[in-house]
Amino acid sequence: MPTRIIVPRDVVLTTRTNIAVRRTVPHRDLRRVGAWIFVDHFGPTTQTDGMVVAAHPHTGLQTVTWLFEGEVEHRDSIGSVQKISPGQVNFMTAGRGIAHSELSSKTDGNLHAVQLWLALPETERHREPMFEHRTDLPVIESGGASVTVFAGSLLGHASPATMFTDSFGAEIVLTASSSIDIPIHVAHETAVLVVDGSAVVNGTPTATTELAFTEPGEPVARIESPAGARVILLGGTPFTERIVMWWNFVERSHAEIRDARDQWESGDPRFGEFSDHIVGRIPAPELPNVTLQPRV
Ligand code: MN
Repeated sequence: MPTRIIVPRDVVLTTRTNIAVRRTVPHRDLRRVGAWIFVDHFGPTTQTDGMVVAAHPHTGLQTVTWLFEGEVEHRDSIGSVQKISPGQVNFMTAGRGIAHSELSSKTDGNLHAVQLWLALPETERHREPMFEHRTDLPVIESGGASVTVFAGSLLGHASPATMFTDSFGAEIVLTASSSIDIPIHVAHETAVLVVDGSAVVNGTPTATTELAFTEPGEPVARIESPAGARVILLGGTPFTERIVMWWNFVERSHAEIRDARDQWESGDPRFGEFSDHIVGRIPAPELPNVTLQPRV
């Protein structure tokens, strides 16, 4: 299968500031990449205090936060208070339920980040929530490319973050006229999101903000950059469980989604409590009138 391009759509988050993000997953042309079920790209923006995401809940997933520029403070209902900077990763495993907020710091530079979600498999989705901040990530230099592995294993180097699916994620910075070949298990599908510059992914030109998706069967991910680039490489074993994704919840049925929504709206202890400098919480939207259907 050839590599195909996903052009992002603009989505306005339900935050205080109505910041727009670019979303390539889920997309009408691409439901997921391995167990990666959500890929949002934010900035770069000089509005470094622009990420003000008040308390909101999650279930059934891991959120993975990765910054290129700026600083963001995470707080959650299991007591975590953690600032994150570029080169570090935050893994929040929601399990049965957690609430968190995100507040960017006013800095002199830009704010530029991706937020990614990993589905939790059936056997793990009811687990207790946990939060990890990792600064000890492997960095592999190869030719003109620098690879920082933040999730799973690549090139024989593993991120210390706890994984529940066979998935991987890395930031790759390529200097001008450089290229890198990354061995990929033939059962894995992959995606390359171009964050800065442009790249050629398995022979397919990919512009800034675009995502190049490759089906399983390619033994290598070849990334070339004539003019230099910064990309995110994601992939893994296709996630074949049927899920219902709605708002911030990942469940298996409409009834489970309705229960999670009702529990957030009623302040149920499932999601816990915490305080932050944002104050307040994001209310859940109304459920659609149709029954949400599980889908692969
Ligand atoms: Mn969140």
